[in-house]
Amino acid sequence: MDSRDPGGAFARAGARVGRFTERALARRLSRRPAPLPADFPPTISFTFDDFPESAYANALPALDRAGALATWYVSCGLLGNSSPVGPIVSPERVRALHAAGHEIGDHTYNHLDARAVPAEAYDGDLAANHAALGRLVPGLRPASFAYPYGQVTLGAKRAAAARTITCRGTESGIARGTLDLALLPAVALYDLSMTRERIEALIGDVARAGGWLIVYTHDVAPGPSPWGCSPDLFEATLAASLAAGLRIATVGAVAAEIMPGEGP
Ligand SMILES: [Zn+2]
Repeated sequence: MDSRDPGGAFARAGARVGRFTERALARRLSRRPAPLPADFPPTISFTFDDFPESAYANALPALDRAGALATWYVSCGLLGNSSPVGPIVSPERVRALHAAGHEIGDHTYNHLDARAVPAEAYDGDLAANHAALGRLVPGLRPASFAYPYGQVTLGAKRAAAARTITCRGTESGIARGTLDLALLPAVALYDLSMTRERIEALIGDVARAGGWLIVYTHDVAPGPSPWGCSPDLFEATLAASLAAGLRIATVGAVAAEIMPGEGP
């Protein structure tokens, strides 16, 4: 489309407004409110989206040394494939992490952008991922979900929240007060947008003022992708969390504590 196509320009402007409205609606509606208890300990959750091999190779040893468990959001359709964040792990890695006590979360089967498909298709894809994860790890019923690309619509939010206790977005922030478990905030641990000083300041803020800090990244490698971090930044974040006395817990463990008795 070019400047001689004013209809196209209007359509694009309309689509932008539509996306804004979708996001605003998703933020305000279909909430799953849960207050953080008054005695909630300052907590950090480490989460990985897509689960590339480099995260397994370069983040897991540091987590193991710290005795820390993380949440790994898996799109079964990506397993064993190449991706913009590097090669994605094989199914065996998912089984191994689950056996070691880590949390395996849902991330749709085909890594769907919520804006790109109708809610029914999103729901069907979620069902496919739950079924595939259940075959991969018999008995597994994911309690945690992360929106691919951080994209959320009202329909996607309803579909995802119906299947899991929590849904994590990518809107930056520390979870405090009354949370919306169907759209949890999270802070990107990307070399491109995060510095060691800034993440240490956020960790210090949580240690002093309380709250739940969820960080997310993809690949963990020297010279990471725009959506990943270096082993140095990852290890500095982990070390700062330990030094500040934060509790390190999976998203699912925290959710189970906030909403005891809830099941997907
Ligand atoms: Zn993803």
